[in-house]
Amino acid sequence: SARPRTALNECVKVVVRCRPLSEREKKESYDEVSKSRAELKWYERLSTKSIVDSKKFDGPLQVVKVWPERGTVQVYNPKGEDKLFTYDAAYDCSADTQTLYDEMVRPLVASVLDGFNGCVFAYGQTGTGKTHTMEGTADDEGVIPRAFRHIWSHIENNASPDVTHLVACSYVELYLEDVRDLLSKDNKKLTIRGQELNGFYIPEMTSVVCKSAAEMVRVMKAGNRNRAAGRTDMNEHSSRSHAVFLVTVETAHRKTNRIRVGKLNLVDLAGSERQRKTGASADRLREASRINQALSSLGNVISALAENSPHVPYRDSKLTRILQDSLGGNSKTIMIANIGPASYNYDETITTLRYAHRAKAI
Ligand code: ADP
Ligand code: MG
Repeated sequence: SARPRTALNECVKVVVRCRPLSEREKKESYDEVSKSRAELKWYERLSTKSIVDSKKFDGPLQVVKVWPERGTVQVYNPKGEDKLFTYDAAYDCSADTQTLYDEMVRPLVASVLDGFNGCVFAYGQTGTGKTHTMEGTADDEGVIPRAFRHIWSHIENNASPDVTHLVACSYVELYLEDVRDLLSKDNKKLTIRGQELNGFYIPEMTSVVCKSAAEMVRVMKAGNRNRAAGRTDMNEHSSRSHAVFLVTVETAHRKTNRIRVGKLNLVDLAGSERQRKTGASADRLREASRINQALSSLGNVISALAENSPHVPYRDSKLTRILQDSLGGNSKTIMIANIGPASYNYDETITTLRYAHRAKAI
């Protein structure tokens, strides 16, 4: 690009994560985009590794290949464009959430425990693993429960009569112009107050004090149940709204009379997929364009931070307004851009790779 290169802000990290093929995709013989004829050519060129079966692949050559050891994703298309995107890290389908947590998220949560703020975002089209990455399952715990355990093991390791810790949780959902409190009855609608200069805040947001990681998981699950209550299609709803789980950690030192406060925001974003114009209602298209605007304004904020730009456009969306005090300054930010491996995801995958690269062009 023609932009002058200045030192990038190391508080902002952008990583890509590719999920494995699902059982259904395997059964339906969706070619893994990374295992097709073009890769075969690359491998021939590199003269390494055995070649995978690419018989199923009969479309145009379009390949996305994750190179974890280099933090890059290589894209090849029928026009013969062979492009390399570089990120802070790239995880292929063999990486578990533990690895991603230890390498990327752990330092961010550690700095929250030191009294700084942080945000972790999961971005990507619906079905690529945002919720898997953030919440996870019993077998492969997500970033959120791992952060809870990390916080409590820190508190237990630093227990002393001179130190008191207070951990509180809030959980809100953003859907178009509404902010809803997932820890209140009937998902109460909340109002954002304040302005850019002195900061935005949500005066009526519920805050639940927790005494253990298990209690925090219960709060998260209660919020998820509220979020789903009365909805016939939860997947569809969650693909159109952002879920923000906020953890505040206060550390008070009796001897020095000092209090340190760190905030951790864990955000499962709305699906980034484009609405097909055909078949979608006017309402749906308007809704989709609002979601895309919010996601692109988040991308603009992150890229301004990554480039140490003096102007950060927080005001452009409700999401960036409510997160303003946790984006920028001494705060740390991680954007996890999720992609799917099946060939039918190719176009959305390219869109996600570009978005992530624009957020921080390494
Ligand atoms: P999203 O929240 O982006 O819509 P999900 O997290 O619901 O996507 O993931 C879609 C499906 O793929 C789920 O069944 C999930 O369990 C599975 N999945 C996603 N990422 C992984 C992964 N890294 N390993 C195994 N399964 C995954
Ligand atoms: Mg989801």
